[in-house]
Amino acid sequence: MPRPPRVSPQTLAAQSLGEIDPSTRALITPLHPSTTFERDADLGYPGGRGYSRSDSPAYDAPERLLAALEGGASAMLFASGMAAATAPFCALVPGDHVVVPRVLYWGLRKWLADFAVAWGITVTLVDTSSVDAVAAAMRPGRTRLVWAETPANPTWEVADLAALAEVAHRNHARLVVDSTVATPVFTRPLELGADLVMHSATKYLNGHSDVIAGALVTAVDDPFWQRLRAWRHDQGAVLGPFEAWLLLRGMRTLHVRVRQQAATAQLLAEHLAGHPAVAEVLYPGLPGSPGHEVARRQMTGGFGAMLSVRIRGGRDAAVAVAAATRVFVRATSLGGTESLVEHRASIEGPASPVPDDLLRLSIGLEDPDDLLADLDAALAAAPVGPAVTTAVTTAVPAPVRDVPEGDRALVVARGGDLAGAGPVGSPGAWLPFVRPLPLPGGDASPGGVGDAVAAVLASVAPSIAAHDGAVEVDGLEDGSHGAVVRVRLTGRCQGCALAEITVHQGLGPMLRAVPGVAGVVDVTDHAAGTDPYRPPAAR
Ligand code: PLP
Repeated sequence: MPRPPRVSPQTLAAQSLGEIDPSTRALITPLHPSTTFERDADLGYPGGRGYSRSDSPAYDAPERLLAALEGGASAMLFASGMAAATAPFCALVPGDHVVVPRVLYWGLRKWLADFAVAWGITVTLVDTSSVDAVAAAMRPGRTRLVWAETPANPTWEVADLAALAEVAHRNHARLVVDSTVATPVFTRPLELGADLVMHSATKYLNGHSDVIAGALVTAVDDPFWQRLRAWRHDQGAVLGPFEAWLLLRGMRTLHVRVRQQAATAQLLAEHLAGHPAVAEVLYPGLPGSPGHEVARRQMTGGFGAMLSVRIRGGRDAAVAVAAATRVFVRATSLGGTESLVEHRASIEGPASPVPDDLLRLSIGLEDPDDLLADLDAALAAAPVGPAVTTAVTTAVPAPVRDVPEGDRALVVARGGDLAGAGPVGSPGAWLPFVRPLPLPGGDASPGGVGDAVAAVLASVAPSIAAHDGAVEVDGLEDGSHGAVVRVRLTGRCQGCALAEITVHQGLGPMLRAVPGVAGVVDVTDHAAGTDPYRPPAAR
């Protein structure tokens, strides 16, 4: 019998979108372990698939369900939350700039410092709970991505996603949101204007501490999404089919789990807020907490099931409280059915901005009274002293720094010289990153910038025209560090999956090499056409 046209997300999850296996009429999606698929005599793939590193059938049902829960156009599973989180940064190119929160999942902060900076991405850490701070950090023409995590691990600051989306879009950048802790049950970032949502599916989506997985969901299936899909395929960070199957099973109970967990977290936060051994409770559900008003606006039905407590008496007292729990388990991670307690600073190391009197609590599905009694007993047994006050968010983690402009040439040069490889991508994408061009009239005077920019465009126009496209300068703006060039591709380039890369990776670096040019903004309407990329010879 057909289902009613509109049912709630909880119903969609409980029935895994109501999908019935067509070959067996099974209610439960079969497990598809095959890595390879038969070709027909004409070398085609009648089933539409060739190899499951591209796209395993095991992903279909969980990706469809997650896209539906987030209200997105498409979802993609990854081998871990980190594989999903790093993919949008890996899809950028040397010279790009990103704005990320000062307080965020420490593994991503460490990766940004260790790898994104080395790859040539300029990283600016700001307090993303301040929209003004994010706006001030934007570099028009260079900032490609704003990252938000809300509530943010492990101090649970809240970012105003609608306001951040507006700032990002005004600057032609994308807003990506790590919504692991909020889950689609409490926040739907795409509805608030975000471009991508990321999950460590290891946590609440799976919910049983038995799968490592990650996911991205996109608002629109655009060329950037196709680039991320190509990244997953080429880089190979793919999820196993059994993990995908378990994840689907976990998501069936997502709503009841997280609502119960968040209700218990709220209860415990309120109880602990008045406890004499607790200096501070960090939880966005507490009225008066810094992010509460924004959280009330953008979270529906609960404030999540993660909270942190700062113990009077500092590090030793906090470690002693964790040691004294009998129901809470001392372990890392979050989002499972069992409640966990963790001393975060000792996990994150010396670069961590987390105060060392902080215990992070992941609230599970146990009887709330057992959890409350356990915390009360542990706090009573521990040698807690007077409050030690250390700021939570002001410290900038040591290993992350902005790449000074002077060093940029070195990191940008990492893009390498592909000369000799021939045109393997869209026009411009295969061009060397920073090969100085002979620029007639290309002096550094203000009047010379326009001529030099025009000369760069003239030099690439023939190869773009060979694809039935055209390139034009939409305008030249004065930026704080120099001119910002607005570039538009028209004709067949519109709708081509590689057109964005052409501007981004080909034209962008060439134009930024022009003296006086600080940034390049792509104002192409990439959704305007429907043509995929076709090399000239194929037509
Ligand atoms: N994002 C958040 C908020 C997390 O808590 C974690 C892991 O703890 C990650 C991302 C990384 O996810 P994974 O461990 O699945 O790679």
